[in-house]
Amino acid sequence: SMVPGPAGGGVQRGSADVIETADVDPAEQSLLNKLIRHNLVKNRNQVEVLQRDPNSPLFSVKTFEELRLKPQLLQGVYTMGFNRPSRIQENALPMMLAEPPQNLIAQSQSGTGKTAAFSLAMLSHVNPANKWTQCLCIAPTYELAVQIGHVIEQMGKFYPEVKLAYAVRGNRLLRGTTIQEHIVIGTPGTVLDWGLKLKFFDPKKIRVFVLDEADVMIATQGHQDQSIRIQRLLPKDCQMLLLSATFEDSVWSFAERIIPDPNIIKLKREEETLDTIKQFYVVCKEKEDKFSALCNIYGSLTIAQAMIFCQTRRMASWLSGQLSSEGHQVALLSGEMMVEQRAAVIERFREGKEKVLVTTNVCSRGIDVEQVSIVVNFDLPVGRDGNSDNETYLHRIGRTGRFGKKGFAFNMVDSQETMDLIHQIELHFDRKIVKLDTDDLDELE
Ligand code: ADP
Repeated sequence: SMVPGPAGGGVQRGSADVIETADVDPAEQSLLNKLIRHNLVKNRNQVEVLQRDPNSPLFSVKTFEELRLKPQLLQGVYTMGFNRPSRIQENALPMMLAEPPQNLIAQSQSGTGKTAAFSLAMLSHVNPANKWTQCLCIAPTYELAVQIGHVIEQMGKFYPEVKLAYAVRGNRLLRGTTIQEHIVIGTPGTVLDWGLKLKFFDPKKIRVFVLDEADVMIATQGHQDQSIRIQRLLPKDCQMLLLSATFEDSVWSFAERIIPDPNIIKLKREEETLDTIKQFYVVCKEKEDKFSALCNIYGSLTIAQAMIFCQTRRMASWLSGQLSSEGHQVALLSGEMMVEQRAAVIERFREGKEKVLVTTNVCSRGIDVEQVSIVVNFDLPVGRDGNSDNETYLHRIGRTGRFGKKGFAFNMVDSQETMDLIHQIELHFDRKIVKLDTDDLDELE
């Protein structure tokens, strides 16, 4: 029989000619986001709150003090460098910490503070004097579970009585063991084994249940059913929390099966904008010609850092080789790398160790590097249907021109088909993309 493959539309590792689409394995993408993120994503949108009981008062907090946390936890929060609750935490934390407990479905893009919020909730609800498992959290993969565990460990640093166990593959306990850890974090399969088959903990004693990354969970074979089976083992009055970065209908119907009588909190992602970005196209013949145009542009701008996008791994590695031989310090990021390697490359680029990052679509999303002032589409993003992939285009170039700075985007045009893509993009965003003559770059100043 066949062994199920990795989750979702994972990239085939191996072939250099493979076009790296933006739909990489969602669990890997999520892990990468976590590994490279050190602070909150800016989001000025209003939080949308739907209360189960619309007549009950809506609490929102502007400070962590208002939450009346245990002093050990407040100290943990401040030591992590959090000064005030994030946008979503302002509403989510009062609900998560309420007595009697309230169920919650919360949706906001990654990096907005969901993990920190439910970690704090679990830590707050534990009674450390009771030597049994009271909080249960499930995540889609081993690596994601470990990341959550790190957050809880950091936050609970001054509250060492609270103990944590990882229900993940490879973590074997003696049969007949009853664990004393207060919080269990794991993947659905192992959690189900621990709770049902091996009886390492008693599901009936769980007070808080968290299902993180619901969208990634349902994209993973078998996780949806296992999650539902776990939920069925829990007491009716157990607090249930479900978090998700996106909210398609499929996530929604899953969430409603898992979380009875929920409050709902949604925070729309802040749209990327092309308003602060000057867009150009450059007509070139073939890749060598594109390369010299690129060098002209790069040489004539006093720029901090540049990101260059290619469609295939072969092109990306060719280009990074060319740039290196011209004496540029280049980082290469592509899909055959392990997530940890990719995270390390991004870190180095962030720290400014390399000025140029050459990449395929694998990192077109979710990475903000403040200094990036130019983005080059060495190859334009094309959808499966051969039309311009406008969403990817926006994601790529939306990373320049951030934080009030001006950004530049350059598109290399080497055929009539590419020119057509430019026109499609102009039409879609209703923004002009200006022709640039690389022998005369005065226009840029
Ligand atoms: P999510 O789970 O939505 O992806 P996280 O909880 O992982 O978001 O938070 C994203 C980043 O922001 C993390 O580096 C985290 O330490 C930090 N963070 C979370 N809450 C706050 C806060 N209130 N103030 C400052 N930083 C925060």
